[in-house]
Amino acid sequence: MAQEDLFKKLIAHCKEYGYIFPSSEIYDGLAAVYDYGQYGVELKNNIKKYWWDSMVLLHENIVGLDSAIFMHPTAWKASGHVDAFNDPLIDNKDSKKRYRADVLIEEHLEKLSEKIEKEVEKARNRFGEKFDEALFRSTNPRILEISEKYEQLHKRFVDALAGSDLAELRQIIIDSEIVCPVSGTKNWTEVRHFNLMFSTEIGSTSDGAMKIYLRPETAQGIFVNFLNVQKTGRMKLPFGIAQIGKAFRNEIVARQFIFRMREFEQMEMQFFVKPGTELQWFSHWKEARMKWHRALGFGDENYRFHDHDKLAHYANAATDIEYKFPFGFREVEGIHSRTDFDLKQHQQYSGRKMQYFDPEINKSYIPYVIETSIGVDRMFLQVVAASYYEEDLTGEDGVPDSRVVLRLPSVLAPVKLAVLPLVRKDGLPDISHRIVDDLKFDFNCQYDEKDSIGKRYRRQDAIGTPYCITIDYQTVDDSTVTIRYRDTMLQERVAIADLKNIIADKVSLQEQLKKL
Ligand code: ATP
Repeated sequence: MAQEDLFKKLIAHCKEYGYIFPSSEIYDGLAAVYDYGQYGVELKNNIKKYWWDSMVLLHENIVGLDSAIFMHPTAWKASGHVDAFNDPLIDNKDSKKRYRADVLIEEHLEKLSEKIEKEVEKARNRFGEKFDEALFRSTNPRILEISEKYEQLHKRFVDALAGSDLAELRQIIIDSEIVCPVSGTKNWTEVRHFNLMFSTEIGSTSDGAMKIYLRPETAQGIFVNFLNVQKTGRMKLPFGIAQIGKAFRNEIVARQFIFRMREFEQMEMQFFVKPGTELQWFSHWKEARMKWHRALGFGDENYRFHDHDKLAHYANAATDIEYKFPFGFREVEGIHSRTDFDLKQHQQYSGRKMQYFDPEINKSYIPYVIETSIGVDRMFLQVVAASYYEEDLTGEDGVPDSRVVLRLPSVLAPVKLAVLPLVRKDGLPDISHRIVDDLKFDFNCQYDEKDSIGKRYRRQDAIGTPYCITIDYQTVDDSTVTIRYRDTMLQERVAIADLKNIIADKVSLQEQLKKL
């Protein structure tokens, strides 16, 4: 199935099974804003707990914080967001559609590199075993021609972004003959800056209302509390502050479901270090964060680093962790070495000393910072996309059958086990309820007695429940049940008394954290 179709099915599945709903759907929704349903909220909470515990529980020198969404507006002046948190936008005059100029160019560049890969694939099929890929890439005239075009364009693009040269961005779009995907025309407006921060007012107009912003990232709440946490927690460098919370960005183009939202949630950790040690810590966090992702078992080959060749003016190293989504490799998390930029800015704007007294050298200085920043929703999408399978179960008898299954890591699954009486009589529901009452303190359990057992299994597969417990007539005699495993669909007979132990190990967050 084409990846695009798969993605559409995934979106429909999330809605049909109570994971994600369009916001205010009865009013036709609100673009790029979504609500999490009964299973979505559980999965989201489990993702957050996995992140939070990996930071705060496992590290003595990382503590948590929950800062407010509203901050003093000067904080956003200091951070640079008021002046520079912009995207370059461009409109197509025929379709009246709005785009990010940088994204149009990036997509064009991606098409060029796809062309190169297609040529290589064609040649590989043609030459078979004798194919020398390196030689082909360095000598084939068609590849050389496309590569040169790519390099030239890429350089122009990077320079234009670095110099905030909006006219040049437009010129690149014109020169590359990029057309609007909707109208198919090259009838473009000028490129303009668009600030992504939402603003509102605090206080009533009679006392002089003040314009404030909805935070576009959680990080600044951490920086402004650096001194509070350091002093009250008697923290010694290196130490980290972790925070999970909502962030808001008025994204120009909001596509790809929950990949790019206007209201979303971030999990950020700022790690304060002694100047000069930041690159060591950068590599440390790069590896640690990759390990956190890979420990979920979605296949190491589906992740990669994308080191930034063009760094923001305040950073001295930056990388993204990318995952292979159905629409290609895309950023899930950013890891940045931000130098002392943020604390220095807040020191300058607030007049407070944002410094650390280092007892080892008897001196005060502004610490350097390594940031790890991941979107909860984007991580959610990554997990669901990696778990979604449509399986053909047509047996040897040729009777067509299929299922949709979410192969969620058990530790993240919203419902850990479903308890299903084979029939709704003869005391089987009572035994089932007793099992739920016993296990509900440990696991999120669900009781389901409606429809045939086969249909109930499919429902649980679709929401990703790793274990189904079936209570039948034999249970009445010997207190055993069958446990059915979601991924293999195998069934085993086990004693009710053993259920807790069998399941506990497999869904345990502790066991997951031990992999890190
Ligand atoms: P992008 O280039 O995709 O816009 P970014 O580089 O601006 O992202 P950061 O500011 O580094 O992103 O934010 C850190 C993380 O927050 C991202 O890796 C992503 O997971 C998440 N994130 C950022 N913007 C959004 C959004 N609009 N919707 C959902 N998640 C987001």
